[in-house]
Amino acid sequence: MGKILDGQGLADLRAARLKKEVQILKNQGQVPLFCVINIGADPASRVYIKSKKKRADEVGIKQKIYQLPVDETQADLLTLIDRLNFAKQVSGIILQLPVPRQIDAAKALARIDPEKDVDCLTPSNVGRLWQGRHFVEPATASGIIALLDYYKIKLAGRNAVIVGRSNIVGKPLAAMLLERDATVSLLHSKTQDLAAHTQEADILVSAVGRPNLITANMVKPGAAVIDVGINRTASGQLVGDVAFAEVREKAGYLTPVPGGVGPLTVESLMEQVVKLTRRQNGR
Ligand code: NAD
Repeated sequence: MGKILDGQGLADLRAARLKKEVQILKNQGQVPLFCVINIGADPASRVYIKSKKKRADEVGIKQKIYQLPVDETQADLLTLIDRLNFAKQVSGIILQLPVPRQIDAAKALARIDPEKDVDCLTPSNVGRLWQGRHFVEPATASGIIALLDYYKIKLAGRNAVIVGRSNIVGKPLAAMLLERDATVSLLHSKTQDLAAHTQEADILVSAVGRPNLITANMVKPGAAVIDVGINRTASGQLVGDVAFAEVREKAGYLTPVPGGVGPLTVESLMEQVVKLTRRQNGR
């Protein structure tokens, strides 16, 4: 029976430590503040923004939400980003994704000052990430690495297989696992025979958004299985991509959903805001 990796517990532990760091910064007159730009009324985005706000309040970080109408123009969005880029008291900027169709997300993200790019999505920060000289880390990947480290799951020389190649999860996680000397495979919707690859994984990460995609027959005995997926079933239950009960019989370690990667992502995001605040104050 696989050991459950307690993401919620680790997130709470790290948040308690971060809260002390934030207090020290505040005593020196530096108040971490990040701005979230949300366009339209995507229900999932609302949930994410709320959970960020809750964690930010807990650790003493300020969050300001810019709620923009669904028909916001690209030009007005860029003007707002410019304003926040220049605002001295703003430590970080997040453009909440997805954005409505008329918005070119890539162009808008590229406009964010890399020094304020909490999500590590500007082209220069993505480049730095792949060169192994980043100063900000993508939150989900950073949270996953923290979890693997906490449970002393070795990465160097081991096979890490990631299912899902998004810019937000799969690709940055591949870069961070490479940096830790894992042998990384990135699978996606066009991959032929997923199981042939996943069965070789010492560390298997699924970031697809499809319930029961990863079944026990796809898992190497003793593997660490990290479930990033968040799916809502017809009955309203929150589940991941992994068939939890059967995979737990075979895996060495497994993250639950909820209570696994999700809370760590939010906590890691707060750590990035603090990092950027320190950097902007020359520390
Ligand atoms: P995305 O839609 O941008 O990417 C999904 C990826 O899955 C794509 O690369 C696609 O090629 C791949 N894919 C689709 N069907 C596949 C299949 N049958 N076999 C193999 N690969 C397949 O999604 P995303 O933003 O990366 O999010 C993925 C999931 O992770 C979603 O459920 C999302 O809600 C969740 N998520 C969770 C967290 C967290 O903190 N827990 C953070 C971000 C995203």
